[in-house]
Amino acid sequence: MRSSQRFADKVAFVTGAGNGIGRSTAIAFAREGATVVAADLTTDHARPTVESIEQLGGRALAVGCDVTRSDQIAAALHQTTDTFGRLDIAFNNAGIALQTGPLADITDDEWDRTIDANLRGVFLCMKHEIPLMLDRVGGAIVNTSSGAGIRGFADGAAYGASKFGVIGLTKCAALDYAASGIRINAICPGVIDTEMIDRLVDDDDTKRAAFVAQEPVGRLGTVEEIAAAVLWLCSDDASFTVGHALVVDGGQTV
Ligand code: NAD
Repeated sequence: MRSSQRFADKVAFVTGAGNGIGRSTAIAFAREGATVVAADLTTDHARPTVESIEQLGGRALAVGCDVTRSDQIAAALHQTTDTFGRLDIAFNNAGIALQTGPLADITDDEWDRTIDANLRGVFLCMKHEIPLMLDRVGGAIVNTSSGAGIRGFADGAAYGASKFGVIGLTKCAALDYAASGIRINAICPGVIDTEMIDRLVDDDDTKRAAFVAQEPVGRLGTVEEIAAAVLWLCSDDASFTVGHALVVDGGQTV
């Protein structure tokens, strides 16, 4: 475990924790002392993250929780407080990026699936997390938006709408609960080297090069770089940071 223990005695709930940014952030929270509830589509998706945390000497629980399902989120959070007695931090990160074309080519189903997972999922998670944090008088929530949440990208209307929506949702909710000691912020990653990007690239070197070309720093971001920013937003160092959309993107959207 790391010498810095900013989250000792805290319980952190992370969605999409089985892979990519969620997995890395869950492990980073555990390294700094947090007890982590790793939530993903199924318990099996989340279990490898929990095993990694346990190998580091940390404490974690794997839960199955599809963020498009209000009942499953409520059950996962119930399991969190039943097992660990509290909820201090939530990283609402689960999301999908479908390969779509220009707006008129987006199917109704692609639109619905994108908005359900990326926007409605964040709403539902906060709806169930906030009462648990109010019970304890405080907490910190970070929602995953994207560079696509602050500027337009061609062929990305559904994804962009969902991620712009996450920022609007975050800012309004932040004002609703600022006086109650719950800080709500968003993270906007640039192009981060995860399986989400691998699926979009689909083994095509030209497509990968096009993603790298979006990044002025000349490389994709790492999951650790996003985890570090999420941990800062959830830490006491960010105690006056409320309703902010923190862009961590290597200059992609500058
Ligand atoms: P990833 O595909 O590597 O991991 C996403 C995880 O979320 C997976 O474990 C998946 O099983 C889970 N998940 C998907 N739908 C779910 C659902 N309905 N309920 C519960 N879990 C679900 O993706 P990633 O790159 O780590 O992306 C994480 C978040 O970051 C997403 O919201 C994504 O939109 C956002 N993001 C990613 C990038 C990037 O370049 N990778 C850039 C900007 C924003």
